[in-house]
Amino acid sequence: MELNRNFQRLAPSYLFSGVGRKVAAFAEKHPDVELTRLGIGDVTLPLASPVVQALHRAADEMARPETFRGYGPEQGYPFARRAVRDQYARRGVLVEEEEIFLSDGAKSDLGGWMDLFGPDNVARVPDPGYPVYGDISLMAGHPVRFVQGTRENGFLPGPDGQDGDIIYLCSPGNPTGAVYTRAQLTAWVEYALERGAVILFDAAYEAFIRDDTLPRSIFEIEGARRCAVEIGSLSKSAGFTGLRFGYTVVPRQLECRGVRLRDLWLRRQSTKYNGVPYPVQRAAQAALSDAGRAACMQAVAYYRANAQTLRRALKGTGVFCCGGENSPYVWMQCPGGMDSWQFFDYLLERARIVGTPGAGFGPGGEGYFRLTGFGDKEATCAAAQRLRDAVLAAG
Ligand SMILES: *Cc1c(COP(=O)(O)O)cnc(C)c1O
Repeated sequence: MELNRNFQRLAPSYLFSGVGRKVAAFAEKHPDVELTRLGIGDVTLPLASPVVQALHRAADEMARPETFRGYGPEQGYPFARRAVRDQYARRGVLVEEEEIFLSDGAKSDLGGWMDLFGPDNVARVPDPGYPVYGDISLMAGHPVRFVQGTRENGFLPGPDGQDGDIIYLCSPGNPTGAVYTRAQLTAWVEYALERGAVILFDAAYEAFIRDDTLPRSIFEIEGARRCAVEIGSLSKSAGFTGLRFGYTVVPRQLECRGVRLRDLWLRRQSTKYNGVPYPVQRAAQAALSDAGRAACMQAVAYYRANAQTLRRALKGTGVFCCGGENSPYVWMQCPGGMDSWQFFDYLLERARIVGTPGAGFGPGGEGYFRLTGFGDKEATCAAAQRLRDAVLAAG
């Protein structure tokens, strides 16, 4: 008996345990001080009413013999897949029902894709980036090489001439909130087509884009149907982090050495996965309906407005920042030459704000810091002023 040695390649994650420990120590020392948590990467507003109604109706259906449902279709019920398809169609992107696979979220799908690729394929992972991309690649045995986000490239790195087979792209990005332009995504698609690489495009934050010139889907880019898979989620766009609903779009044209990846993914999913719960598929259908979208977009606008408040507070302070305009995240340089954890301590002590040290998102995040708009509006507004004062004082 031997364990998977690839797990030894993983670095221990100190990010959230470190934050938790420091916050607990602060609370013990200052029991009367109220902290503002701008480090949350989770939604906080409750589900929209059309979504909750759909859940109730589906629960009632499950209680009656004539409407009870057992195993559903492996890719998801047609009504839910059509709802995803229609969402794409509204933006002029044509995807077919049979190209859509429903799941319990983006993270499971991302991890699942590792089953399809040989271990020698080089994974190119954005740094700073969502730590999941690197970790799932390491677990699957892939060599992992960073694609470097920097202040100079606006944390939107393009192809850098190095080899890569599996390319992770996330736009709008976590933690940086930066959004790729059409031209920048075109460069990645051209690279992938030339090299025969596969792009795994994480569209978890597409709902936060309000600038209509920015692409919301990789499939808005010509040629992407031959080199990319798109992974979507209702977690941040409809508050489904606890309910769990995501999907992967695998275009029929996507092939690797003559094998259709869509067929391989179907085989993988029907072997290892038995589908999204029926009530959750009904909830997703409701979230993607006209009434559902209107309600969910109010929550998205609320979070984005919070992020904009934070972004505005940093204006004129001289520190670099990005995000916040089409994203719930603001990514800022730490002032006064502080490293990520020094600024974490400084902001906690001086402004009673809890953020997330950029170093937790990869070596390229050192010296940077992530703030999120997922908190309460009033608390965020008050914290924004304290943030500004603290940054100016750190000079
Ligand atoms: C939150 C988030 C997701 C969503 O993951 P789920 O498993 O669908 O909840 C995906 N990608 C990134 C980068 C995220 O931050």
